[in-house]
Amino acid sequence: MRNLMTDNELYFTALRNDFPILQQLNRGKPLVYLDSAASAQKPISVIDVMSHFYGKDYANIHRGIYELSERATNLFENARELVKTFIHAPSTDTIIFVRGTTEGINLVAQTYGQRFKKGDEMIVSMMEHHANIVPWYLLAKQIGLNLKIIPVTDAGALDMTAYKQLFSPLTKMVAVTHASNVLGTINPIRDLADIAHAHNVPILVDGAQAVPHFPVNVQDLDCDFYVFSGHKLYGPTGIGVLYGKSNLLDSMPPYHGGGDMIETVSFEHITFTKIPHKFEAGTPDIAGVLGLSAAIQYVQTIGLESIYSHEQQLLHYAENKLSNMTGVTIVGTSQPKVGVISFVIDNIHPHDIGTVLDNAGIAVRAGHHCAMPLMERFGLPATVRISFGLYNNEHDIDLFIHALNETKRIFS
Ligand code: PMP
Repeated sequence: MRNLMTDNELYFTALRNDFPILQQLNRGKPLVYLDSAASAQKPISVIDVMSHFYGKDYANIHRGIYELSERATNLFENARELVKTFIHAPSTDTIIFVRGTTEGINLVAQTYGQRFKKGDEMIVSMMEHHANIVPWYLLAKQIGLNLKIIPVTDAGALDMTAYKQLFSPLTKMVAVTHASNVLGTINPIRDLADIAHAHNVPILVDGAQAVPHFPVNVQDLDCDFYVFSGHKLYGPTGIGVLYGKSNLLDSMPPYHGGGDMIETVSFEHITFTKIPHKFEAGTPDIAGVLGLSAAIQYVQTIGLESIYSHEQQLLHYAENKLSNMTGVTIVGTSQPKVGVISFVIDNIHPHDIGTVLDNAGIAVRAGHHCAMPLMERFGLPATVRISFGLYNNEHDIDLFIHALNETKRIFS
């Protein structure tokens, strides 16, 4: 076992103390959590902010004229300001709180998508999570839209030559992930956006696997829509963000109808408020928004550049160890990639690997990772996936590799 840690490793190892869940045993052993791509663990500051809100500041927002409601409204709208700064959006009215990436994409599909006509086309990629396939499939079935698919190379990159050839005068939209939850591949969003814009087509970016790992600037990317989930960013479940360029959001009809998104209501005629509230019907997840805001503050304090280089170091460390093991194949070798490694081992089913690792206190994911078309592309029913968060260190990887060798021994 290693006993020398760099200052950087020591710093990140110390951050583990911020995460109460990592202080307990899992299957009677210290928890080695290697499933942050599914959902990240929560620092105490996020948990405290939410509990403080319910205990001390709780009231509904945007309605009351009393002190508590004003306080809750201010906290909520300050969080919107923070999200704006976090992704470098131009204004707070471009930030819409939704339940998560899935809801954000459904919102765009069902509102922006209303302008598409039968026979129109849209481009998605082979490496999308089901959240960026099913909403477009549903729309395609509703209106007769044709989906065109960007192929993925053997290394796990988008085939940019094929992408360029998918455009036609009927193309109305591109929807693509910033980083793959299976391969880890970071896609060249600015290039994809420039090509889409040259055809006068907007681009939606699924940022679920990007925002927790590196700085994102939606204006530099020049994407038209950007979505992400709070829970993968060390925040709570049930909250996420949809960013959209304001002219597009203004031009879209509302998604859900209800309180807080209207100006006047009669049975004959209803007028809607402006963005962002036009898309935030009903009482939102106020505590969730504050938890998300605390999570953003948490990663900002550490610095996303520093999180990125820490996770890159872990990625290379783990990839090296894995590629030295016989019978192991890593799926997705295209660079750059986030701290996600999918792999298979000859003659051992991924679920069996997951089960043996679980017994060793190591949490990994085994399955199709909600990306069935991609799995089919690689001819695999399932892979094992490990994914890193800021709290992981090389010791976690040593324990994982040790348990993996043990798994190989059991099944040999
Ligand atoms: N897109 C990607 C790339 C993801 O990894 C995930 C979550 N696994 C989603 C979308 C869906 O996110 P959520 O379930 O939080 O809506």
